[in-house]
Amino acid sequence: MKQSATDEDVERVKAKVVEQGHEHIVIYGVERTVVAVSGKVIEDNRAIMRLLDNVHEVIPVGRPYKLASRSFKEGNTEVKIKDLVVGGKELAFIAGPDSAEYREQTLETAEGVVASGGNGLRGGAFKPRTSPYSFQGLGEEGLIMLREAADIHNLPLFSEIMDVQHLEMMEKYVDVLQIGARNMQNFKLLEAVGESHLPVLLKRGLSATLEELLLASEYILARGNENVMLCERGIRTYENATRNTFDINAIPYLKMNTHLPIIADPSHATGDRTLVESVALAAIAAGADGLLIEIHPRPDEALCDGPQALTPDELKVLSRKVSDIAKVVGRSLN
Ligand code: PEP
Ligand code: MN
Repeated sequence: MKQSATDEDVERVKAKVVEQGHEHIVIYGVERTVVAVSGKVIEDNRAIMRLLDNVHEVIPVGRPYKLASRSFKEGNTEVKIKDLVVGGKELAFIAGPDSAEYREQTLETAEGVVASGGNGLRGGAFKPRTSPYSFQGLGEEGLIMLREAADIHNLPLFSEIMDVQHLEMMEKYVDVLQIGARNMQNFKLLEAVGESHLPVLLKRGLSATLEELLLASEYILARGNENVMLCERGIRTYENATRNTFDINAIPYLKMNTHLPIIADPSHATGDRTLVESVALAAIAAGADGLLIEIHPRPDEALCDGPQALTPDELKVLSRKVSDIAKVVGRSLN
């Protein structure tokens, strides 16, 4: 609909859709209202739609995902989180511990992020662990530590939400809601974050196809939250030499097919700190909009994901190399 469209104009379009034998979902976005119509609409009916008052355009979208697709939106979505813009020329360089463990650890880690020119802090407080006997995260106490560490350096904070019931509480502490790989198809959770005012980082499921990832993003977009970032964090394949297999193809494929920004997570993709740097550089060369990297001041003592954590010093080395590669592909870091 045009920006000037009134509620009556939208109602008129909805009535016409029903009259033509289709169903609709109305998405009230910040920039515009969209009436999404399901099923194949013949050209004659599309022509009728175009003539209705305040209809801006009628576009057929051939893919099962609509709002996420490039045909839906011109240009790239830029997600603004405090001073960080994800999806523009500047790369996002988000780092932090797998989990908040104790105050000094989160403070030291945040200092390490800033020392490397990082522009976002990550850290888990609610941890999706394969075993119920493993460290499950500190919960709200962890969020308090992470928030303090983020505030000292004015960094936006990314943290995973695992439960719809935590949404209101998490909104008090975090700047970005992360949906973890294990929850990529937790549709109730996707709908809930779709109603939030906070941006969402949606990670690819353990064995999810790119179409499934994009359809998961569609759940969030369809609830009116336009600030969605996708994350390639490796998928499960028959290869077991590394924790996961990083799907480098995903980056150019997603860039071509969606306007949403793509962040690469070489830490979970490899599970091995000796491989993180190479995969991070490859992701930036392939066109990723940023990186999500796990670090720990003492990786050998980490309560979760220590083998893949870089030290703050190693992060510094990586950031210099990322900055070099960024220039080659027309991007920048700082
Ligand atoms: C994490 O970011 O710490 C995490 C649990 O990631 P993933 O959901 O990709 O496994
Ligand atoms: Mn982790």
